[in-house]
Amino acid sequence: MADKLKNFMKNIRIWRSLKVRLFIIIFLVGIIPVFIIRAGILDNYENRAVDVRRSDVQKQLKIIANHLITYNYLQDTSSAVINAELEQLSNLYNGRVLIVNGNLKVMKDTYGIIEGKTIISEEVIKCFKGSPIANYDKTNGFIEITTPIIETVSSQMATETMPEGTELIRGVMLTSVSTDVITATMDILSRKALIMEIIMFAVIFILSMGLANFLIAPFDKVSKAISEVKEGHTDEAISVSDYIETENIVDAFNSLLKRMRVLDNSRQEFVANVSHELKTPITSVKVLADSLIAQKDVPVELYQEFMVDIAQEIEREDKIINDLLALVKMDKAATSLNITAVDMNQLAEIILKRLRPIARKSNVELLLVSTREIVAEVDEVKMSLILSNLIENAIKYNTEQGKVTVTLDADHQYFTIEVADTGIGIPEDSLARIYERFYRVDKSHSREIGGTGLGLAITKNAVQLHKGTIKVESTVGEGTTFLVKFPLTYIAS
Ligand code: ADP
Repeated sequence: MADKLKNFMKNIRIWRSLKVRLFIIIFLVGIIPVFIIRAGILDNYENRAVDVRRSDVQKQLKIIANHLITYNYLQDTSSAVINAELEQLSNLYNGRVLIVNGNLKVMKDTYGIIEGKTIISEEVIKCFKGSPIANYDKTNGFIEITTPIIETVSSQMATETMPEGTELIRGVMLTSVSTDVITATMDILSRKALIMEIIMFAVIFILSMGLANFLIAPFDKVSKAISEVKEGHTDEAISVSDYIETENIVDAFNSLLKRMRVLDNSRQEFVANVSHELKTPITSVKVLADSLIAQKDVPVELYQEFMVDIAQEIEREDKIINDLLALVKMDKAATSLNITAVDMNQLAEIILKRLRPIARKSNVELLLVSTREIVAEVDEVKMSLILSNLIENAIKYNTEQGKVTVTLDADHQYFTIEVADTGIGIPEDSLARIYERFYRVDKSHSREIGGTGLGLAITKNAVQLHKGTIKVESTVGEGTTFLVKFPLTYIAS
């Protein structure tokens, strides 16, 4: 039931508006006290008015009760004085007085209806037992009061069992007085209070609307400012500092905007770089082909020589495309790692074996140092890519008679691969940029040796997918050392 109500409320669009909620809260906070105060005042007035009337009547009844004893009214009801007093009381308070003697016989009824009859009433009996009542009957609009008629034992009447001063209840006065006057005043007051309530209702309604609008205005400002950015009217960072909350929203939006701009810029830069990189080999092919077409009677040897160059350029284009595809795949493959237990020493040996012919070509010595057996949970294909890229670079950017040392090590939690070369090194100001796509320290040198500038970008992505870290240290002219560190057990995030 509660869930149903919740769902229902959720589906009402207007209820989801903060402005409406604020309005309702402010309105209720304003109007509830008005109702409470009204009910409180009316109730208080009624209680006080009834109390005053009750005690007035009780005072008079007490006086009359004393007179009743003095005039021996319970035996003889002919006393004109008492009758006049009773008449006056009932006229004054619009009430009825019954005087009941010790035998529960009604000696006097100011309405004259049940005189001489016996009355069996709980209230009367209670009063005889010493518990007089004074009840307010709100629905019928009267107060019912019982008053004991008390005779105090005088010295002449005193006996041993009844010493002087004993109070004897000789009879009871059962009185009912109307509260019509109080009800009438209450009606007038209620009507006035209702008019006040209606006025207050209208005032609080308008005030609540105004206040809710005022409180919500900064949020409207935020959406307006965001819309302006969205529609392209402004590129500036927006600011709505009215509330801490709006400031937080706007700050979050500004940093998102900044990030998106950086992303957009890097995407544009990437597209520009890709186009440029892909265009270079094609331009070369076109130049080579054009020069062949332009010449007449070209010797076969020249054809062959140009065709070899063309084939090389195509190969280069192919390499760039393959690297780009690898990079894109890596970006998407965060969840598609194929994790198996891999013997890292074995993997390194296979890769070194594959790269040895290239190293030999440039007279570079390849060395594998392995201190212990390492079996790690990794994606074998991606780990091969990391190793090959680092070792290939160490060979490519080496010097004649240079050396590349691959060292594998592990503790109980991590394993490390160190690829150290004695090559040309990387200048310090380039160290931070070598992982950028298409970044090359020396563009022409890299191109010469078949680099695309994507190798380290791919490597870094693959390392991060394995939750690893990559560090580089280098001294120009002395050599470079890459250190990659991975957890032995793969923890999926
Ligand atoms: P490339 O395909 O050009 O080798 P990489 O992304 O693999 O691209 O490397 C980026 C640049 O970092 C290279 O162009 C090169 O200038 C520099 N570099 C990478 N590895 C080494 C190394 N072992 N020694 C010296 N320079 C290196």
